[in-house]
Amino acid sequence: MCMDHSVICRCGKHDASFNFKNELMPPETIEALYCPECSNGIAVNPVTMIKDNGWVIQYDMDVAGLYSSRLPYNEKENLSPELLFDEGYITWRGVYPGDHIDSAEEREELAELAKVNPKKYFEQMKSWAINRMLRLKEEGWRKAHEG
Ligand SMILES: [Zn+2]
Repeated sequence: MCMDHSVICRCGKHDASFNFKNELMPPETIEALYCPECSNGIAVNPVTMIKDNGWVIQYDMDVAGLYSSRLPYNEKENLSPELLFDEGYITWRGVYPGDHIDSAEEREELAELAKVNPKKYFEQMKSWAINRMLRLKEEGWRKAHEG
């Protein structure tokens, strides 16, 4: 189970949906969120923050520490913003903020094709997924580089 939780950035212009793997970490672990506009000029502290393509997530590592006993031993020992993000404990819903909304829209466009040409639809769906990931990787999103 992944709980969905939306957070508004510091300047209030944007928000991002987060996933919490197995709900091991509470939403309070997110201390602040900065969009590419309001992250301008802030000093990124690697002890509490992670940067992803202009977005910055600031974690409350004290809260994360309180809940870290729920993590596997080797992860507990290496608790860091990178671990929280990369292992999916507190991470974007999708590859980047807004991904689940964009991909649903793109998929809907393709769904039209499914009605007229199912075979072509499946081919396009496959290349859509591959090309999409390549594009996101090029754009520099952290989760597109996984694996
Ligand atoms: Zn902002």
